[in-house]
Amino acid sequence: METSSLAGSGLRPGREIQPAVAMNTIPTLSFDEINGLAHSVSSDLRHLFDQAAQAVTSVCAADGRLDPARLDAHQYVCYELALAAAELLAAENALLDVANCSPLDRALAFAFLSDTASVVLQKLEVIFFELDVNSAALQALAANATLASLRRASASNAALTMIGRAVAEADGDCGAVTLDDSTEMAQAAFRRFAAEVVAPQAEKIHRHDLTVPEALLQPLREMGVFGLSIPETYGGSALMMIAITEALSAASLAAAGSLITRPEILARALLSGGTERQKAHWLPKIAVGEPLCAIAITEPDFGSDVASLSLRATPTSGGWLLNGAKTWCTFAGKAGLLMVVARTSAERAAAHRGLSIMLVEKPSSDGHEFDFVQEGGGRIQGRAIPTIGYRGMHSFDLAFEEFFVPDSHVIGEEGGVGKGFYLTMAGMVGGRMQTAARAVGVMHAALGAAARYAGDRRVFGHALIDYPLTQVKIARMAARFAACRRLTYAVGRRLESGAGRMEASLVKLLTCRSAEIVTRDAMQIHGGMGYAEESAVSRYFVDARVLSIFEGAEETLALKVIARNLLEQKLGLLHD
Ligand SMILES: Cc1cc2nc3c(=O)[nH]c(=O)nc-3n(C[C@H](O)[C@H](O)[C@H](O)COP(=O)(O)OP(=O)(O)OC[C@H]3O[C@@H](n4cnc5c(N)ncnc54)[C@H](O)[C@@H]3O)c2cc1C
Repeated sequence: METSSLAGSGLRPGREIQPAVAMNTIPTLSFDEINGLAHSVSSDLRHLFDQAAQAVTSVCAADGRLDPARLDAHQYVCYELALAAAELLAAENALLDVANCSPLDRALAFAFLSDTASVVLQKLEVIFFELDVNSAALQALAANATLASLRRASASNAALTMIGRAVAEADGDCGAVTLDDSTEMAQAAFRRFAAEVVAPQAEKIHRHDLTVPEALLQPLREMGVFGLSIPETYGGSALMMIAITEALSAASLAAAGSLITRPEILARALLSGGTERQKAHWLPKIAVGEPLCAIAITEPDFGSDVASLSLRATPTSGGWLLNGAKTWCTFAGKAGLLMVVARTSAERAAAHRGLSIMLVEKPSSDGHEFDFVQEGGGRIQGRAIPTIGYRGMHSFDLAFEEFFVPDSHVIGEEGGVGKGFYLTMAGMVGGRMQTAARAVGVMHAALGAAARYAGDRRVFGHALIDYPLTQVKIARMAARFAACRRLTYAVGRRLESGAGRMEASLVKLLTCRSAEIVTRDAMQIHGGMGYAEESAVSRYFVDARVLSIFEGAEETLALKVIARNLLEQKLGLLHD
């Protein structure tokens, strides 16, 4: 039986970084002992979670089906349930294969579970309280000796300070995942490109609100970035897309890591509903980034409520005329191809069945505004919305005026009319995974920056990292990052085998929230410098904030996708 100084992880106090304040001792437990505690706690949490999910199902269902009015009336508990589900899944996943992890990753997995237990218990407590469920089992777990032993061994001051020092020594490099050779090599190549080419330009693009320059786009085209999202003949795979997105996002979310999102969504819509002719025509072009594309779903009056979109497409000879407004269309200026979701049925009752996807071609432009007039007089005007972060691609307000789209440019052509909602949703799973990978990349960068700064900065006569509070913070950031990273790749693997759609929503929810937490702490560790535009952590912080807003706003994702799915599983209507 293996024993060591940090609760079975094999982690030992660092040599280079010395604590400024003496640590408490941690109980010496073998790996088997702590692993046993962790599995016992995680299975108790799952049991309680199932009880809570059952209770929420009971109040939200009528006649064996979910009732929309009841779901709305019980949003608070549905939301807490979805958040608890995401945290718990990440903690469970972190424990899988923990025996084969490095000592640091083992310690992080156990620390994350300990922290997560508190978060999950608190959310379940809300549900039990709100629904008047007997919470004796919950209170028993909260007070249980196994949980206390796990906490003492893995998330006490003594444990976290040791973990924090080890993370700092490793410059934040943790959360290892197993990749095949080609994905590993591709990620390494993109990490080099990100560090050498993207990172030096990222600050300037952000501070001067520039458009992503060709000096970045062209090498990325040549490296095959835009084809990553297109499976089958174009060689894309979920894991490769995640690995490369993570590498690029660590250098810049907006100027590199998010370039793949748009082709991902458009390619999925084409693959799901395009005619063979459309696929053969557009996919090779999208795969090489000629033209670049943008996605126009959101409108001034409808964002989360995609089924109600109102931009009108009226039939005309040989095609359709678009009239109306879109907003937040990211990269619409630089793009030569817009995927526009439009209402092709005038009947209000048609709701989501009245939408279709139009492919709109336009000239690419670098500016913050554009005005394109077609030969027949149709027009699109665009104006970039100034934002606090996520700069480089710019997100545009768009106004369409009698803009002509030929029938050949409706995805699915005649057969695609009315299928726009379903085809849009087809791209959402990939978009959510890609967003999770973006969040992981930003977290990784923030953690590394915080670890290095804490090593360099001296306060009250010691390096910042020598203080227990800094060590605890770094440990918690790393535990969250590592759990998110490992879950993202695990779900990517599930998607490749045709499963994991629900987990893609859970991992999106978790990683995007986590990116806010980790970048916030990274900024805080930098003190005043963290608030300066010249330090990268200020950019990570403002960039991370958008992640929970797009690709399924947090509340919509939690309520309309995750909670519904969890409750439908309880009703026996779904199996994932
Ligand atoms: C930087 C940026 C880039 C973007 N890029 C694109 C893009 O390229 N293409 C595109 O089409 N869109 C894009 N978006 C738009 C984004 O997808 C939407 O902002 C998002 O879907 C939310 O829609 P909304 O802004 O209309 O918010 P609303 O739908 O008005 O929601 C407002 C708030 O209410 C919450 N909410 C919604 N429904 C409920 C409910 N039933 N109960 C309780 N709370 C609820 C939401 O979660 C949100 O917090 C981008 C947005 C940003 C900020």
